[in-house]
This record gives sequence, structure tokens and C-alpha cells, in this order.
Amino acid sequence: KEIFLKDYKMPDYYFDTVDLKFLLGEEKTIVNSKIMVFPRVEGSKFPLVLNGDDVKLISIKVNNEDLKEEDYVLDSRHLTILSPPTGSFTLEIVNEICPQNNTSLEGLYKSSGNFCTQCEAEGFRKITFYQDRPDIMAKYTCRIEADKSLYPVLLSNGNLIEQGDLEGGKHYALWEDPFKKPSYLFALVAGKLASRDDSFITRSGRKISLKIWTPAEDLPKTEHAMYSLKAAMKWDEDVFGLEYDLDLFNVVAVPDFNMGAMENKSLNIFNSKLVLASPETASDGDYAAILGVIGHEYFHNWTGNRVTCRDWFQLSLKEGLTVFRDQEFSSDMGSRAVKRIADVSRLRNYQFPQDSGPMAHPVRPHSYIKMDNFYTVTVYEKGAEVVRMYKTLLGSQGFRKGMDLYFKRHDGQAVTCEDFYAAMRDANDADFANFLLWYSQAGTPQVKVTSSYNSDGRTFTLKFRQEVPPTPGQAVKEPMFIPVALGLLDSSGNNLSLSSIYHDGVLQSISDNDQPVYSTVLRLTKKEEEFVFTNIPERPVPSLLRGYSAPVRMETDLSDDDLFFLLAYDSDEFNRWEAGQVLARKLMLQLVSDHQQNKTLVLNSKFVEGLRSILTDSSLDKEFIAKAITLPGEGEIMDMMEVADPDAVHAVRTFIRKQLANALKAEFLAAVENNRSSAAYVFNHPELARRALKNTALAYLALLEDAETANLVLNEYKNASNMTDQFAALVAIAQKPGETRDTILADFYAKWQHDYLVVNKWLALQAMSDIPGNIENVKNLLNHKAFDLRNPNKVYSLIGGFCGSTINFHAKDGSGYEFLGEVVMQLDKINPQVASRMVSAFSRWKRYDEHRQNHAKAQLEKILSANGLSENVFEIASKSLAA
Ligand code: ZN
Repeated sequence: KEIFLKDYKMPDYYFDTVDLKFLLGEEKTIVNSKIMVFPRVEGSKFPLVLNGDDVKLISIKVNNEDLKEEDYVLDSRHLTILSPPTGSFTLEIVNEICPQNNTSLEGLYKSSGNFCTQCEAEGFRKITFYQDRPDIMAKYTCRIEADKSLYPVLLSNGNLIEQGDLEGGKHYALWEDPFKKPSYLFALVAGKLASRDDSFITRSGRKISLKIWTPAEDLPKTEHAMYSLKAAMKWDEDVFGLEYDLDLFNVVAVPDFNMGAMENKSLNIFNSKLVLASPETASDGDYAAILGVIGHEYFHNWTGNRVTCRDWFQLSLKEGLTVFRDQEFSSDMGSRAVKRIADVSRLRNYQFPQDSGPMAHPVRPHSYIKMDNFYTVTVYEKGAEVVRMYKTLLGSQGFRKGMDLYFKRHDGQAVTCEDFYAAMRDANDADFANFLLWYSQAGTPQVKVTSSYNSDGRTFTLKFRQEVPPTPGQAVKEPMFIPVALGLLDSSGNNLSLSSIYHDGVLQSISDNDQPVYSTVLRLTKKEEEFVFTNIPERPVPSLLRGYSAPVRMETDLSDDDLFFLLAYDSDEFNRWEAGQVLARKLMLQLVSDHQQNKTLVLNSKFVEGLRSILTDSSLDKEFIAKAITLPGEGEIMDMMEVADPDAVHAVRTFIRKQLANALKAEFLAAVENNRSSAAYVFNHPELARRALKNTALAYLALLEDAETANLVLNEYKNASNMTDQFAALVAIAQKPGETRDTILADFYAKWQHDYLVVNKWLALQAMSDIPGNIENVKNLLNHKAFDLRNPNKVYSLIGGFCGSTINFHAKDGSGYEFLGEVVMQLDKINPQVASRMVSAFSRWKRYDEHRQNHAKAQLEKILSANGLSENVFEIASKSLAA
């Protein structure tokens, strides 16, 4: 059933307090819920409809009296109380659930013998009957009873107010959360866990107890997570003035988890891969992800929990904003430019394809069948870009004023994206024109820019033309409000000072109290418009969309020479990288077309020289260099083609990489030699940047055919003293089929078979491989003892990894598609959320040639004809097919 934003209705009843009791058992778990209900309008009379999914009703009482059978209706999804008393009343429900059989990993389930919960978005209804919607905010208590030896630790939200022993080897704990919350933030954990304990003193002097819970043997691996948590708490105080609001903050790591992590009030639950790290077992990428996600979930305490969403269409209100906050946090902890590059790459590689495919939806979707399908890169990452644009338009201080007003107005409320917009606008008295379209129009806007210089008038003109492509359900679009940050470079590479601009014939001064201004933000709001810069002494090279000031595809009339100039001189580091990427994209597309016409491929030597000068520029940040010498991904190039050609794109990217390896061999060797270190592993920016440059160079060198470099790469593997270096060497070696590859892969498994997180890396590396015929290996790995279809991380590594392989997933004979089709149908019976994420790999099927299209279509049809298909998979598969 499809649900629409326009159908939102306020609830007829609110809940004031909720007292839950859990009797956790091996065969069954009994849930007792006592709710104080009151009507929204005093004296009104409506039925009270509760959601319930897979819950067995045992008894139901209203105002202490058992409800008669004719007073309620029970169907497979609802419990409806037909005529509740007028005014307030108490509702008491007892029900039974079986967490031990719950493989969907939503609601209450077991992971490695421990009980845990995941309620967002609509998992609470799998625990008990409830109005399971975020605008129902109530105060909760939670009493947990369980066997003491099996479940020594009992956790829920808020403060522990009572605990003790019970007969029969049982014990209990009573938790009370003083803050009102929606049901999706409820959490419970029970099991054998140990904690790393620490504390944080808030800026107002309160001491917060911090605990990170894992199985005892993993405790040494929680040091970085604890460091990240304390850094996040400090950062939120420093940057947003936001302080933690309870005396206890718990983080629990579980190995079976559908997503990354969950911000349950004071009891965050994490996928263990985003908590556990040691230098030997986790890479720099893992360390960075842990920092970002620990930050993300902590930041939700204000942006999500204290102020939450009115309904699930508003998801980006909390997710876009919180992603923006975690991006800023990571920027401040590392390198801003490099973090921006990574975030924009992610947007381009994952969000752009979604925004131009059958699942394209606005940052605030208009409808959904299953909300879990809308925890997307559009809601999260494009949503974060929308928040970032407010900051670009208002500046840091203006943005902060907007945030302050948002909390002042809405603390304790469930609100909408317009409420956030209004706070930003009102706090700054700002004119945001048609900015709200960012929430309602899907599709990546395309902006074309042409420039001209008039030497007589000393004016420089930029003409912009924007177009928002049609997306499913939205054929015609309005022009958007696009902030374009820019500077103009003179011939020596310096930013020209900007004095004034004619826009629509109106002269605007941009100098600021006679201080020279070197960059500005243009506000595009129309389909076509023109800006004329005055007093420009020479033809400048414009540096446009600095820092990627809007989530658009921009096409300029800059020549290759201009782009090489920007690559060498732009003061905006993001745009330096961008210039290199634009050049690389052009080059790759040209070579793809040459390849398709069977022409001999030749690499432009200017491009090689451009990269050489970046590679050898010691004034540059090393992680920046690593990014700048990395070519755009194959997906990004396929995305720009009329008909995506995986074989040609892969051949071309490999060709360029080999050419670069040959041409820049000496520089790459130097980068490896000069960036080795025998010092103990430390995760900080200079160190990880050093490793990134060394390992990027190593991956190039591994493509060469001589024995000397092959030996070098092998030695890097053997001598590595941390996972970053070891895995990078393994990846480098695994690029080439052969005996060495097989031996080293086996060696790596033998070494790490007891560490499931490392084994997942090993699975993913093999699954993604572009080695011809690798599907057989992937099929074998399905039966490997290290694999388990019930564990999401393993599925994401092996199946998700395989879908990321350009060559093998998109094999012409359809074998890759058929494999995925079969796995999805098996997986759907176990875990619909995970199956649905996997089936998304088909959603771009129309981008390929007819032959591949037919194979993919057959699989989608097969999936849709399966019996008992979940709504999750149905929504993705049917929308993909319909487009
Ligand atoms: Zn989030």
C-alpha cells in the first residue's frame, strides 16, 4: 500500500506515558505495555488504531477492565479499539513475541545470543501494539526481566532507577527516560557484555558517564570509538553550543545490524564494524567511518531526538542535517578539502545515479510503500547538501543563528522541513526565493555556463542556463535556487578583487566596507540569467561552484588549458581537484569512444604532465594528492554515456592507469619509498595522508609487469604492520590474476579467519574483482564457512561487492544478473530490508544495451512473480521495471 505525504493527518489520540515490561525468554518474550492515552480534541470520539506486526495479543484492558471481544478488531497489521472512553484513559496490553526467530533484524531480535532492538522506522510495532508514528511522543519507563547468567547486562533508554535479583536465577532492571520520545527511539539491550568506561565533563560542568558495550574480548578495540565520542561531544558544544542532556550515554556494538547505527535516546546501537577498530585489524577508512558515525549518532541527540520528524516524509529534516553535521565534524578533525572531495565523490557515484533512475525521489519524498526503502543517498547525502546551501548563503554565523532559533522554537516537538527552513530564514531575515523546491523536486539540476570578456568595457560576463531533468512522476520542473560560489583568477593565478556585478541590469556592489573581496556567491533563480562583473582588467579564468556550493551538474565552456590552469593554481582546493576530474572525465569519454571504434588508444601527454606536477608538489597535502591522482570511477563515466558500456569503460580506465604507472613510475616509486614509516600506527591527518599517498602509488605500481615492482608490492604486503598498509597491498596484488594473487589471498584468510570484520574485507575484495569469470569464485564463497546469508555485513561484502564489479556483474551472458536474482529471492525470506538493498543493483538496468536490458528485465520479472514477496523488494523491483 502506497502512503502519501499529502494525506498526513494529525493523530486523534496522543500518548502521555508508556510503561513497558519485558520478560525475556528463550521460547517467547512477554511484553506488557501500559499507556496513558488522551484525545487530541477533548470530548471527541474516534476509534484508536494501533499498529502491530507479528505480535500475538494476549490481553487488553482499558481503564483496568478487560476489553470484550466485540470492543476491538484485530487484523494482521492493526489492533483497533472501537469506542474508547471519552477523555483520558489507560490502555494495558499484554502480548507475546519471538525475538529468537526474528531474522528481519527489526523490532526485538537476537544477535550472537544477546537481545537488541532496531525500531526506526517502523520496528516498534513488531514489539507491541502502538501508534507507531514519530509525532506520538511520550515519556517511557522500561522494566526488563531476564535470566541473570545469560543476560547479566540489561539496558534501555534514560536513567537506571532500580535493579535487583528475582527468583529462579532471574534479575531485573528498571529504566526511566525523562525526555519525551517517539517510539522509533526506543531501545533495549540484554546480554553478556562488558563496557569500556570513561567520562566527559560538559561545558557547564556536568560529568557524563560514557560506556561502550561489546563482548569482553572486543573491549580493547573500542578505544577509537570512545575517543570519537568525546571529540564529538566537545565539537557540538564548541560549534553549536549543544550540550548532552542526561548523565549517562551508552553505545552498544552488535554484529548483526541492517544499517550502520541507530541514535536511540542515550542507548545508541551500532553495527560492530562502526565501533571496533585496532591498528592491526582496521584501516584508515574504517577509523574515519567510526569517527563520522559515532559523531553522527551522537549529534542526533539534538537533531533528531530533541527535535524530531512529524512524519517519515520529513526524514531528511534529521538525516540531511545530521549528515551535514557529521561531515563538518570530520572536516574539523581532519582536512576540510579532502573531506569535501570524498563527500562530493560519494554524491556523484551513488546519489546522481539514483536521481536519474527509476527510484529518483525528492529529498522529501511524496510517497512510499515501505519507508525503509527511503533511507537513501538522496535523503541523506543530497539532504546534507541542501543544509550546506543554507550555510553557504548565510555564512557560519548566520547558519548558527538559524540553528539556535530552530531549537528555541521546536525543542521537544515533531516538526517538518518547512519549520527548519523558516528558522533559517527568520533568524537572518533572509530572502530564500524558491529554495523550498530543493525539498520537492527530484533530479540533479544541470547548469550550463558560458563566459565572455569585453576588454573595452573591462567586463566579464557569465551566462547561466539551468534545466532540471524529468523524473518519475515529475515531468516538468521549475528552475531552482542555485548558489554558485566563485572567484576569478588572473593570469598569474591570483584571485581578482571583485567590485560590483550587474545582474538583470541592476548594479550590485559586492565589496565589503571597502575591503577587497575575492570571492562571492551568485544566486541563480531563473532558467536563464546573466551576471556581468565590472572593472576586470584582463580575461580571467573563472573558478565556479567553489567547494561544490550546490548539488548540480555544471558544464562550462572552459578550455582544457583553463582547466589545467585551475588544476595548477586555484586557491580553492576543491576546485583544483575538480579541474583534474573534469579533464579526466573528458579524456575517459573520448577514449571510450575510440575504444568502441577499435582505434588505438593514446593518452594525452598534457594530462600525464598535469598529474606529474601534482604528484611531485611537496606543498600539497598528501591525501589531496592521493585524491587528485585517482581517476573518476567507472560508474561515474558510465553515468555520462548515452548507453553505458561496462567493458569499454573498464578497458579504458585500466589502460589509463597502466599508462600512468609506466610514465610516472619513478615518481610513484619515490612516493612509496618516502612515505613508509616504521613508527607505531596513529590515526591522525598527517599520518593517514602519508599512508594514502603511499598506497595510491602502490596500486599504480602493481599494474606494471616487471619483477622488480612485483617484488616491491609483495614486500609491502609482508612487511605491513597495520591493516591500512596490509590491505592496500593486498588490493594492489589482487588486481592481477595469477599464482601470487591466489597465494596471498589464502595467506590473508589464514591469518585473519578468526576476525569476522577482517574476513568481510576479504570477501568484499574478491567479490568486487573484475577478473574475468570471477562469478564462479563468488558462487563458491556463498558456501564458504565464513559466509552467512543471515548476517547483513557479509551480504553487503559478498553480494553487494559483486554488484559493484563492472565486468562480472554486468557480464553480457546475463550470469551476474541471474545470480543476483536468485540471491535476492532467497534473501527476501530472511531479511526484506537487506534483500531490498541488493535488488536496487538492478534499478539502473535501462542504462545498458538491449541485450543486457533483456537479461535484467527477466530477473526483475522473475522476482516480482515470486510468492510472498516482501513490500520492500516489491517496491524497488516494480518501480525499476515500470520506469
Ligand atoms: Zn542518522
